Amino acid sequence: MGILSGLRSLGLGSLENVSLFEEPKKKEAEKAEQAVAAKVEEKDLIYDRSFVCPVCDSSFTAKLMKSNKAKLLGTDPDLRARYDGIDAAKYEVVMCPICGYAALMRYFTGITSGQAKLIKEKISQTVRIKPYEGETYSYEEAQKRYKLALVGAVVKHAKTSERAYICLKYAWLTRGYVESLREEEQPDEKLIAELESQENELLENAYKGFTEARQTEMFPMCGMNEVTVDYLLAVLASRFTDFDVSLKLLGSIITSRSANPRIKDKARDMKEHVTREMKKHQE
Ligand SMILES: [Zn+2]
Repeated sequence: MGILSGLRSLGLGSLENVSLFEEPKKKEAEKAEQAVAAKVEEKDLIYDRSFVCPVCDSSFTAKLMKSNKAKLLGTDPDLRARYDGIDAAKYEVVMCPICGYAALMRYFTGITSGQAKLIKEKISQTVRIKPYEGETYSYEEAQKRYKLALVGAVVKHAKTSERAYICLKYAWLTRGYVESLREEEQPDEKLIAELESQENELLENAYKGFTEARQTEMFPMCGMNEVTVDYLLAVLASRFTDFDVSLKLLGSIITSRSANPRIKDKARDMKEHVTREMKKHQE
Protein backbone atom coordinates (compact mmCIF):
# COMPACT_ATOMS: atom_id res chain seq x y z
CA MET A 1 0.00 0.00 0.00
CA GLY A 2 1.50 3.29 -1.09
CA ILE A 3 1.25 6.32 1.13
CA LEU A 4 -1.02 7.91 -1.42
CA SER A 5 -3.24 4.94 -2.12
CA GLY A 6 -6.88 5.76 -1.60
CA LEU A 7 -6.63 9.00 -3.52
CA ARG A 8 -8.89 7.33 -6.06
CA SER A 9 -11.76 7.65 -3.62
CA LEU A 10 -11.10 11.37 -3.55
CA GLY A 11 -11.35 11.46 -7.32
CA LEU A 12 -7.58 11.76 -7.67
CA GLY A 13 -6.73 8.26 -8.85
CA SER A 14 -4.27 9.49 -11.45
CA LEU A 15 -2.12 10.91 -8.68
CA GLU A 16 -1.87 7.71 -6.66
CA ASN A 17 1.51 6.80 -8.09
CA VAL A 18 2.94 10.27 -8.39
CA SER A 19 6.55 10.52 -7.18
CA LEU A 20 6.92 12.91 -4.28
CA PHE A 21 10.16 14.42 -5.42
CA GLU A 22 11.14 15.48 -8.86
CA GLU A 23 13.80 13.42 -10.57
CA PRO A 24 17.09 15.26 -10.15
CA LYS A 25 17.86 14.92 -13.84
CA LYS A 26 14.66 16.61 -14.86
CA LYS A 27 15.38 19.43 -12.45
CA GLU A 28 18.77 20.03 -14.03
CA ALA A 29 17.19 20.14 -17.47
CA GLU A 30 14.61 22.63 -16.25
CA LYS A 31 17.31 24.78 -14.75
CA ALA A 32 19.21 24.79 -18.03
CA GLU A 33 16.01 25.75 -19.83
CA GLN A 34 15.42 28.61 -17.43
CA ALA A 35 18.98 29.78 -17.91
CA VAL A 36 18.46 29.95 -21.67
CA ALA A 37 15.15 31.75 -21.26
CA ALA A 38 16.64 34.24 -18.79
CA LYS A 39 19.77 35.00 -20.80
CA VAL A 40 19.91 38.77 -20.64
CA GLU A 41 21.63 40.87 -23.23
CA GLU A 42 23.82 43.84 -22.45
CA LYS A 43 21.96 46.09 -24.87
CA ASP A 44 18.72 45.54 -22.96
CA LEU A 45 20.32 46.65 -19.69
CA ILE A 46 21.40 50.11 -20.85
CA TYR A 47 19.74 53.29 -22.05
CA ASP A 48 20.79 56.55 -23.67
CA ARG A 49 20.59 59.56 -21.42
CA SER A 50 20.84 63.15 -22.60
CA PHE A 51 23.29 65.55 -21.02
CA VAL A 52 24.24 69.17 -21.46
CA CYS A 53 27.97 69.56 -21.05
CA PRO A 54 28.83 71.95 -18.20
CA VAL A 55 32.10 72.84 -19.96
CA CYS A 56 31.06 73.54 -23.58
CA ASP A 57 27.22 73.59 -23.37
CA SER A 58 26.85 70.95 -26.10
CA SER A 59 24.06 68.39 -25.88
CA PHE A 60 25.02 64.75 -26.18
CA THR A 61 23.95 61.32 -24.96
CA ALA A 62 25.80 58.75 -22.89
CA LYS A 63 24.90 55.12 -22.30
CA LEU A 64 24.08 54.27 -18.70
CA MET A 65 23.15 51.03 -17.00
CA LYS A 66 19.55 50.44 -15.91
CA SER A 67 20.58 49.55 -12.38
CA ASN A 68 17.11 48.40 -11.37
CA LYS A 69 16.99 45.88 -14.21
CA ALA A 70 20.43 44.27 -13.83
CA LYS A 71 20.63 41.22 -11.58
CA LEU A 72 23.41 41.31 -8.99
CA LEU A 73 25.43 38.09 -8.98
CA GLY A 74 27.88 38.93 -6.23
CA THR A 75 30.58 41.27 -5.04
CA ASP A 76 34.37 40.99 -5.24
CA PRO A 77 36.33 41.58 -2.01
CA ASP A 78 37.12 45.16 -3.10
CA LEU A 79 33.37 45.88 -3.45
CA ARG A 80 33.13 45.53 -7.23
CA ALA A 81 29.57 44.43 -8.00
CA ARG A 82 29.14 41.69 -10.62
CA TYR A 83 25.93 41.66 -12.66
CA ASP A 84 24.34 39.14 -14.97
CA GLY A 85 24.95 40.02 -18.62
CA ILE A 86 26.65 43.39 -18.11
CA ASP A 87 29.85 44.89 -16.76
CA ALA A 88 28.63 47.92 -14.81
CA ALA A 89 32.07 49.56 -14.88
CA LYS A 90 31.72 50.16 -18.63
CA TYR A 91 28.84 52.56 -18.07
CA GLU A 92 30.04 54.75 -15.22
CA VAL A 93 31.87 57.51 -17.07
CA VAL A 94 29.95 60.33 -18.74
CA MET A 95 31.97 61.88 -21.57
CA CYS A 96 31.23 64.89 -23.73
CA PRO A 97 32.32 63.84 -27.25
CA ILE A 98 32.65 67.49 -28.30
CA CYS A 99 35.11 68.93 -25.75
CA GLY A 100 36.46 65.76 -24.12
CA TYR A 101 35.29 66.56 -20.61
CA ALA A 102 34.63 63.27 -18.82
CA ALA A 103 33.86 62.33 -15.23
CA LEU A 104 32.20 59.62 -13.22
CA MET A 105 28.44 60.12 -13.31
CA ARG A 106 28.27 61.42 -9.72
CA TYR A 107 30.82 64.17 -10.42
CA PHE A 108 29.90 65.15 -13.97
CA THR A 109 27.75 68.21 -13.28
CA GLY A 110 29.57 69.35 -10.16
CA ILE A 111 32.26 71.38 -11.86
CA THR A 112 33.18 74.98 -11.05
CA SER A 113 33.71 77.63 -13.74
CA GLY A 114 37.41 77.68 -12.85
CA GLN A 115 37.65 73.94 -13.37
CA ALA A 116 35.73 74.17 -16.66
CA LYS A 117 38.23 76.76 -17.84
CA LEU A 118 41.11 74.39 -17.07
CA ILE A 119 39.42 71.55 -19.01
CA LYS A 120 38.92 73.88 -21.98
CA GLU A 121 42.54 75.01 -21.94
CA LYS A 122 44.25 71.72 -21.30
CA ILE A 123 41.94 69.17 -22.91
CA SER A 124 39.34 70.61 -25.28
CA GLN A 125 41.79 72.53 -27.45
CA THR A 126 43.67 69.47 -28.61
CA VAL A 127 41.42 66.49 -27.94
CA ARG A 128 40.05 64.56 -30.91
CA ILE A 129 37.28 62.07 -30.26
CA LYS A 130 36.03 59.72 -32.93
CA PRO A 131 32.27 59.27 -32.81
CA TYR A 132 31.28 55.93 -31.33
CA GLU A 133 28.57 54.00 -33.12
CA GLY A 134 28.36 50.73 -31.17
CA GLU A 135 25.12 49.62 -29.57
CA THR A 136 26.98 48.83 -26.34
CA TYR A 137 30.33 50.17 -25.16
CA SER A 138 33.28 47.98 -26.07
CA TYR A 139 36.06 47.62 -23.52
CA GLU A 140 38.33 49.78 -25.68
CA GLU A 141 35.72 52.54 -25.74
CA ALA A 142 35.22 52.28 -21.98
CA GLN A 143 38.99 52.42 -21.41
CA LYS A 144 39.15 55.62 -23.44
CA ARG A 145 36.37 57.14 -21.31
CA TYR A 146 38.21 56.27 -18.08
CA LYS A 147 41.47 57.71 -19.39
CA LEU A 148 39.72 60.99 -20.19
CA ALA A 149 38.00 61.01 -16.78
CA LEU A 150 41.30 60.41 -15.02
CA VAL A 151 43.26 63.01 -16.94
CA GLY A 152 40.32 65.42 -16.57
CA ALA A 153 40.37 64.90 -12.78
CA VAL A 154 44.08 65.77 -12.70
CA VAL A 155 43.61 68.85 -14.91
CA LYS A 156 40.65 70.19 -12.89
CA HIS A 157 42.48 69.55 -9.59
CA ALA A 158 39.77 67.18 -8.37
CA LYS A 159 39.77 65.98 -4.79
CA THR A 160 42.07 63.06 -4.05
CA SER A 161 39.07 60.83 -3.31
CA GLU A 162 37.60 61.48 -6.77
CA ARG A 163 40.88 60.53 -8.45
CA ALA A 164 41.18 57.43 -6.26
CA TYR A 165 37.60 56.43 -7.08
CA ILE A 166 38.26 56.70 -10.83
CA CYS A 167 41.35 54.49 -10.39
CA LEU A 168 39.29 51.94 -8.45
CA LYS A 169 36.51 51.77 -11.05
CA TYR A 170 39.01 51.75 -13.91
CA ALA A 171 40.68 48.79 -12.19
CA TRP A 172 37.32 47.03 -12.06
CA LEU A 173 36.84 47.70 -15.78
CA THR A 174 40.23 46.18 -16.49
CA ARG A 175 39.34 43.10 -14.40
CA GLY A 176 36.09 42.73 -16.34
CA TYR A 177 38.00 43.02 -19.61
CA VAL A 178 40.33 40.20 -18.53
CA GLU A 179 37.36 38.05 -17.49
CA SER A 180 35.76 38.56 -20.89
CA LEU A 181 39.02 37.69 -22.70
CA ARG A 182 39.38 34.49 -20.67
CA GLU A 183 35.98 33.34 -21.93
CA GLU A 184 37.31 33.34 -25.49
CA GLU A 185 38.54 30.11 -27.05
CA GLN A 186 42.04 31.40 -27.58
CA PRO A 187 42.62 34.18 -25.05
CA ASP A 188 45.17 36.81 -25.97
CA GLU A 189 47.63 36.07 -23.15
CA LYS A 190 49.83 39.03 -23.95
CA LEU A 191 46.92 41.47 -23.68
CA ILE A 192 45.75 39.75 -20.49
CA ALA A 193 49.18 40.16 -18.89
CA GLU A 194 49.23 43.82 -19.88
CA LEU A 195 45.75 44.42 -18.47
CA GLU A 196 46.58 42.63 -15.23
CA SER A 197 49.60 44.83 -14.72
CA GLN A 198 47.39 47.87 -15.44
CA GLU A 199 44.82 46.69 -12.90
CA ASN A 200 47.55 46.37 -10.31
CA GLU A 201 48.82 49.86 -10.99
CA LEU A 202 45.31 51.30 -10.81
CA LEU A 203 44.58 49.56 -7.51
CA GLU A 204 47.89 50.76 -6.12
CA ASN A 205 46.86 54.33 -6.99
CA ALA A 206 43.40 53.81 -5.52
CA TYR A 207 45.04 52.56 -2.32
CA LYS A 208 47.39 55.51 -2.17
CA GLY A 209 44.61 58.02 -2.96
CA PHE A 210 42.06 56.69 -0.48
CA THR A 211 44.72 56.46 2.23
CA GLU A 212 45.46 60.15 1.75
CA ALA A 213 41.79 61.15 1.35
CA ARG A 214 40.87 59.35 4.58
CA GLN A 215 43.21 61.67 6.46
CA THR A 216 42.29 64.89 4.69
CA GLU A 217 38.64 64.69 3.57
CA MET A 218 35.23 64.37 5.21
CA PHE A 219 32.81 61.47 4.97
CA PRO A 220 30.77 60.38 3.11
CA MET A 221 33.45 59.97 0.48
CA CYS A 222 32.44 59.05 -3.08
CA GLY A 223 29.09 57.98 -1.61
CA MET A 224 30.77 55.68 0.92
CA ASN A 225 30.66 56.06 4.69
CA GLU A 226 33.75 55.77 6.87
CA VAL A 227 33.27 52.08 7.64
CA THR A 228 32.97 51.20 3.95
CA VAL A 229 36.08 53.19 3.03
CA ASP A 230 37.98 51.52 5.89
CA TYR A 231 36.88 48.12 4.66
CA LEU A 232 37.96 48.92 1.12
CA LEU A 233 41.32 50.21 2.37
CA ALA A 234 41.80 47.04 4.42
CA VAL A 235 41.28 44.91 1.30
CA LEU A 236 43.67 47.05 -0.75
CA ALA A 237 46.26 47.16 2.05
CA SER A 238 46.26 43.37 2.18
CA ARG A 239 46.72 43.15 -1.58
CA PHE A 240 49.84 45.30 -1.32
CA THR A 241 51.10 43.30 1.69
CA ASP A 242 50.52 46.09 4.22
CA PHE A 243 49.10 43.43 6.51
CA ASP A 244 49.43 45.44 9.74
CA VAL A 245 47.48 48.35 8.23
CA SER A 246 44.84 45.94 6.96
CA LEU A 247 44.39 44.15 10.29
CA LYS A 248 44.21 47.41 12.19
CA LEU A 249 41.43 48.72 9.93
CA LEU A 250 39.52 45.43 10.11
CA GLY A 251 39.87 45.39 13.89
CA SER A 252 38.37 48.87 14.13
CA ILE A 253 35.39 47.79 11.97
CA ILE A 254 34.79 44.65 14.02
CA THR A 255 34.71 46.61 17.30
CA SER A 256 32.95 49.68 15.85
CA ARG A 257 29.62 50.73 17.38
CA SER A 258 28.29 52.22 14.19
CA ALA A 259 29.19 49.42 11.74
CA ASN A 260 26.27 47.20 10.74
CA PRO A 261 26.40 43.41 11.35
CA ARG A 262 26.78 42.65 7.63
CA ILE A 263 30.00 44.60 7.20
CA LYS A 264 31.29 43.29 10.54
CA ASP A 265 30.83 39.75 9.21
CA LYS A 266 32.67 40.68 6.03
CA ALA A 267 35.46 42.22 8.11
CA ARG A 268 35.76 39.03 10.21
CA ASP A 269 36.03 36.89 7.05
CA MET A 270 38.58 39.27 5.60
CA LYS A 271 40.57 39.22 8.84
CA GLU A 272 40.90 35.44 8.58
CA HIS A 273 41.99 35.77 4.97
CA VAL A 274 44.55 38.47 5.78
CA THR A 275 45.96 36.47 8.70
CA ARG A 276 46.44 33.48 6.39
CA GLU A 277 48.06 35.64 3.69
CA MET A 278 50.38 37.18 6.27
CA LYS A 279 51.57 33.75 7.42
CA LYS A 280 52.13 32.67 3.82
CA HIS A 281 54.13 35.80 3.24
CA GLN A 282 56.33 35.21 6.28
CA GLU A 283 57.18 31.64 5.28
ZN1 LIG B 1 31.66 69.45 -23.68
